[in-house]
Amino acid sequence: MIAHCNRPWTIKGVAGLAGRQGPWKEVMKIAVIGTGYVGLVSGVCFSDFGHEVVCVDKVETKITQLRERLIPIYEPGLEQVLARNVAAGRLSFSTDLPTAIAGADAVFIAVGTPSRRGDGHADLSYVMATAEEIAQALTDYAVIVTKSTVPVGTNRRVAEVVRAARPEIEFDVVSNPEFLREGAAVEDFMKPDRVIVGVESDRARDVMAAIYRPLYLRDFPIIQTGLETAELIKYAANAFLATKISFINEIAALCERVGADVKDVARGMGFDGQIGNKYLHAGPGYGGSCFPKDTSALARIGQDHGAPQRITETVIEVNEGVKRRMIDKIQDLCDGSVNGRTVTILGVTFKPGTDDMREAPALTIVPALVGRGAKVRVVDPHGRREGEALLPGVDWQSDPYAAAAGAEILVILTEWNEFRALDLKRLASVMARPRLADLRNVYSPAAALAAGFEAYEGVGRA
Ligand code: NAD
Repeated sequence: MIAHCNRPWTIKGVAGLAGRQGPWKEVMKIAVIGTGYVGLVSGVCFSDFGHEVVCVDKVETKITQLRERLIPIYEPGLEQVLARNVAAGRLSFSTDLPTAIAGADAVFIAVGTPSRRGDGHADLSYVMATAEEIAQALTDYAVIVTKSTVPVGTNRRVAEVVRAARPEIEFDVVSNPEFLREGAAVEDFMKPDRVIVGVESDRARDVMAAIYRPLYLRDFPIIQTGLETAELIKYAANAFLATKISFINEIAALCERVGADVKDVARGMGFDGQIGNKYLHAGPGYGGSCFPKDTSALARIGQDHGAPQRITETVIEVNEGVKRRMIDKIQDLCDGSVNGRTVTILGVTFKPGTDDMREAPALTIVPALVGRGAKVRVVDPHGRREGEALLPGVDWQSDPYAAAAGAEILVILTEWNEFRALDLKRLASVMARPRLADLRNVYSPAAALAAGFEAYEGVGRA
């Protein structure tokens, strides 16, 4: 089976399409089920490839907004691509799944796979419910493509569900995990490092080839594998990146003890081409919609299959410890207690460039400070809409200088561009006690002290 699956991508499908031969059409009809960060970006970008796309979600307000060209998430560049494809008549939005998938060549499942409460497994209830709905609505052969991140074996389960519900319908199941990063999602989708396609039939291979033809023609690597391999590539990649982050965060703690600077350590490591400089930024721990739940799911998959993923299990533990270390750092900088002190936090989203608050370190750090009696003010360019309900008891402000006035410590938690070139002198002059906890190492300690801060703490900097 492996040899069959590893047939060069060029033999069928794309090569034929490139020469405009064969029965394959260039414009594919695509339905994307789930219009969140991944589904919306995928649907919009597929339509930009020239395909006819309907994005489906069960949340009506989302679809109503999208029809008015209002984007329910913050993702740079998405609005323009969406607008031009709606205008071209290639992209539409619907809550009506059966109509959207009627006559579709491919139906993408892009619904959430959050951590299941209690055991850390991926919660597959949305994926399986979607598979059921697709099965009921299929009218003709279609390729059902799982874009959601799903544990090994899920695509075969999806196939079983569809087969059981509609034994008379022909279909194929394909695993096509997504690697886009929030904040750079459109760019990542249009210029991917690679596209992974777990596919096991020629017919499905040709449909996938047609869908990704614009990328193939520009020489982006498209890797064919079996279903299980594709499913595992996604988890392995995310766990590896999370490992890099946890690794440098542990090195950062050591740097603080021995008088080294983690930024220089990371730089010195990163120039080694075999290591690379990405994901080597020490900080307050990883968060977001993927790394926490995917590391946790991989650990459970390993346990279930008798192949414990001890490195990943440790990475999860280290990351929790890093967040606690940040709380201590802030407290130490405030002479051992934040009780009654005004703490100004700059940035709460899990990273800049997104409004996503899922598993953001701020969700651990800010409530801990509030719980210890701090009066917390928060500034975030796009985090308030999501963050307001998640961070009760804080005072949301929009201007860093106003938010710092009278504060006893300033904490940089997310390195938004808006916080990268602050007037440190002005900040120090308005604070009651100018102290800076720079948890993203944005500023140099010397510059902060020269600007009038009485204390500076970064991460991994002596
Ligand atoms: P999300 O929560 O932003 O979006 C999921 C959407 O699916 C929601 O809008 C929800 O209403 C909709 N939905 C759920 N069930 C539905 C149904 N039956 N019919 C129609 N709509 C339905 O999730 P996301 O962040 O886009 O992630 C989706 C998947 O992609 C996850 O498996 C995730 O791990 C993976 N992924 C996410 C990212 C990322 O950066 N967010 C990157 C790569 C992969």
